[in-house]
Amino acid sequence: MELSALLALQLAAGGSPPPPPPVPKGAEAPAAAQAPASPERSSADLYYFTPEEAAQGAKAFFPRLRKKGWTFDSDVPQAIQDQMRKDLAFMAQLAGEGASKLHQEIFGAVSGAAYKEFFDSRVTAIGLSGCGSGNAVACVMPLFGPSKMWLTDNFIKFSHPQIARMMVVYHEARHTEIMHGSWGHARCPAPFLDSRGREMKSIWTGAALAGEPACDKTPLGSYGSSAILLKNIQKRCTNCTDKVRMDAGLYADDQLGRITDAQSRRRMEEDSW
Ligand SMILES: [Zn+2]
Repeated sequence: MELSALLALQLAAGGSPPPPPPVPKGAEAPAAAQAPASPERSSADLYYFTPEEAAQGAKAFFPRLRKKGWTFDSDVPQAIQDQMRKDLAFMAQLAGEGASKLHQEIFGAVSGAAYKEFFDSRVTAIGLSGCGSGNAVACVMPLFGPSKMWLTDNFIKFSHPQIARMMVVYHEARHTEIMHGSWGHARCPAPFLDSRGREMKSIWTGAALAGEPACDKTPLGSYGSSAILLKNIQKRCTNCTDKVRMDAGLYADDQLGRITDAQSRRRMEEDSW
């Protein structure tokens, strides 16, 4: 389907004019050709996809999914490739002692080898895209290949620490798991307040999160798993600097707030906090 046709479909479905469809260069055609009407995009935070998009992407790409290792598309700027390689190499050299139960279940031990295996066994390609929002850093768009990760120009302009950037990357890597519907997000409550009654905002963009599809109910989804990852690094990494451990704790505590189911949140706190 041509882009203009996709746009027309979205308009015909009664939605307001969508932002420019995030069809990236290098996207494979089959799934895009079956793009559903009116996919919602939120610019408040990380990229969002619908359960229908996840299912369609999984179906269209399933036979081609299981390829070990990943490659960069040729149009990913060298500086972004270099930063990503450096970041993944940083993750691959981490050492730790033990792991919480949920961390063990999701990633294995707190160790660089486990983190490298987690990423390499899920992500098959890395491309360049705007990810549908001027604020995005990285995304997985199931319709354009459910095991492909896209990085944006913000990846090297991002003012957050390296460990926070890796939190986004591992959040996105979790979204490649098609057998779990790519771990699509839940809508945040409205109003959405923290324990002190303040409005919940994105630590990445500062945007208000009330009513946005930027929360999870399960501890095992993208927000939960990446928060557990960083909390374990904060508490169990044996070769991290104090700064890395402090940053890891800060971002983990923030992302815990995205888990809106009280029981799931308690489970995470008892497990890793
Ligand atoms: Zn996400």
